[in-house]
Amino acid sequence: MLRLLRYSQLLALAGMVMVVGALSLLYRGLVFDSLIERETRANVALTTSFANAIWPAHADFVSRAALLPRSELAASENLRYLARDLRQLSRGLGVVKVKVYDLKGLTVFSSDGKQTGEDGSANPGFRNALAGVAASEITHRDRVDAWEGTRADRDIISTYVPVRVSDDAPIEAVLEVYSDVTDLVARMQRGQWQILGGVLGAMALIYLVVQLILRGYRERLREQEAQRAAQEERIRHQAYHDPLTALPNRTRFAERLAEALGRAKRAQWQLALLFVDLDHFKRVNDSLGHEAGDALLKQVAARIRRSVREVDALFRMGGDEFTVLLEDVRGPEEVAYVAQRMIEAIAEPLQLQHHEFTVSTSIGIALYPRDDISGEQLLKSADTAMYRAKDLGRNRYAFFAPEMNERIEQQMLMEAALRRAVRQGEFQIYYQPRISASSGRAIGAEALLRWMHPEWGMLEPARFVPLLEESGLIVPVGAWVLAQACKQARAWQDAGVPLRVSVNLSARQFRSDTLIEAVSGALSDSGLAPQLLELELTESLLVENVEHAMQTMVRLKAIGTSISIDDFGAGFSSLGYLQRFPIDCLKIDRSFVRDLANGTKDAAIVDAISGLARSLGLGLVAEGVEQQGQAEFLRARHCTELQGFLFSRPLPAEALAEILLKSYQPAAHPQAA
Ligand code: C2E
Ligand code: MG
Ligand code: MG
Repeated sequence: MLRLLRYSQLLALAGMVMVVGALSLLYRGLVFDSLIERETRANVALTTSFANAIWPAHADFVSRAALLPRSELAASENLRYLARDLRQLSRGLGVVKVKVYDLKGLTVFSSDGKQTGEDGSANPGFRNALAGVAASEITHRDRVDAWEGTRADRDIISTYVPVRVSDDAPIEAVLEVYSDVTDLVARMQRGQWQILGGVLGAMALIYLVVQLILRGYRERLREQEAQRAAQEERIRHQAYHDPLTALPNRTRFAERLAEALGRAKRAQWQLALLFVDLDHFKRVNDSLGHEAGDALLKQVAARIRRSVREVDALFRMGGDEFTVLLEDVRGPEEVAYVAQRMIEAIAEPLQLQHHEFTVSTSIGIALYPRDDISGEQLLKSADTAMYRAKDLGRNRYAFFAPEMNERIEQQMLMEAALRRAVRQGEFQIYYQPRISASSGRAIGAEALLRWMHPEWGMLEPARFVPLLEESGLIVPVGAWVLAQACKQARAWQDAGVPLRVSVNLSARQFRSDTLIEAVSGALSDSGLAPQLLELELTESLLVENVEHAMQTMVRLKAIGTSISIDDFGAGFSSLGYLQRFPIDCLKIDRSFVRDLANGTKDAAIVDAISGLARSLGLGLVAEGVEQQGQAEFLRARHCTELQGFLFSRPLPAEALAEILLKSYQPAAHPQAA
């Protein structure tokens, strides 16, 4: 409709232009025609009067002029008389030029002398006049040679008129009369413009009024259109959304799930469908009323929204049931993590009718393509898993595939416990002395992390360090170990026992940008001399990213710490790097030490490592020394330091201090713990 209006506007404009054009043509035609008619009549009357006036005197000359040669004709006395008479007659009548032809078409006379003697017989005007018809035409001339001389830029009407004494007398000659109608034409044109201007003005006025009316009409139409669109949008929104929470509803869910499955199939990624159901929602409704129930659902919806990514889609399926679609998930661990976060977010206390209130949730999880590939099945599986979560005691999630539950549950539980351990300071450091092979005195101690779990008791690193590593918690925990160990070494030093402390660095810690900061911070905070700190790295760290490892080690060396390679021989050994990296010492892996006495190949390996260390000028440490025989063997292989249960188990700092102080007394010997 609007487009129609716009076109009508264009049409109106075009119509106006056409009307004005046609009018101007019509006006011009009408006016010119009447002008020509009038002038022709006037010229006929004029010529008749000329004929009456001059013909008695000049008819003879005109009829005989053809007999004279052109030069004589031009110079003849009669011609001069004729010119004089015609001129006198023309005066004051606007006649600018007159020509007289004889019946053969010879120009007997022309007020423009040059034309006298020319043949005008071929001229159609002349022929018409000879046939008794006077005809005129109006032309615009740039210059006209008139009686009075040359005139420029004139509108001229010329008429051929038959000359006869009376209407029924025979035609005796033809007169051509030129009148100057410039003023007339100008006046006429002015009139034309005035009329056109008037018409145009009137039309513009009409156009304006029509436009104003149309504009109002258009405005109304536009408003109606907008209202209709808004109405449609409202209806659409209502069809696809839940009015309470404003979340997309079950209908929309079916569409979005199909789309998401299509995407997952194309991109070959995993998709998770979470079915979220509040625990005991009915009780809230029954005890606090529907209004409270509605308020609760709204808050829950907002909390679920907050615990997922912006791109994750959340739906209210009805009642207290929600679904969440997670696209492009890496694996069940990631989904479990999101589900746990959701459960925790929903479980936070909330205000309902001025009461603090908590609500728990059960979540069922199904994965595409692992559990199902059709949307319908996936929803069913997630629903089944949700009921399993309820059966398992509510306030938890459950995977559709039950074996996933256990693995992830364990891991999540452990991770949560580790986070709490960090917050609540459940970690402790044990120290195991390193004994000088030559003097038998403790000259260092390795810091070994322990987790004092309030229920599970003391846990050794093998149980939790990999998880610390995986979750990234190793970075803060490792920094804490560094700080604690340095503080402890400094305390020993102050107590008169100057021991070097060794701290283990894990892969993630070694790669982290904060490592250098953590090391130098631990040293400066404790005031420990850098030479008294040794960092233990494993071989695998060095071969992972040689360039970065080299840089980090150089920076650590620049601080002043020493570096040893832990568990040497057990990992991937590339002898090449030993030479390139700034290493101080090798720690023979305890697996080689264990079987030394049994005369296996391990003795040969220890021999080889010993030779390597000596030739590269590196210190050599053996760990896991449990028996005297092993210690002797190692001493004989130039081991500089020994570490193991033979001398002491890892102990809390205070317990170790006692032993150390004893070993620093003159008569003391290293003793087994
Ligand atoms: P590691 O650095 O090779 O530490 C030596 C391990 O050998 C210690 O185990 C220690 O208790 C054990 N050990 C010492 N003497 C003997 C012995 O005579 N016989 C036997 N069978 N074992 C002995 P622990 O404390 O369980 O530590 C295990 C590993 O955990 C360490 O191996 C180290 O790689 C890692 N770790 C410990 N503390 C930390 C830490 O603070 N940060 C990092 N990143 N890793 C740590
Ligand atoms: Mg170690
Ligand atoms: Mg080791």
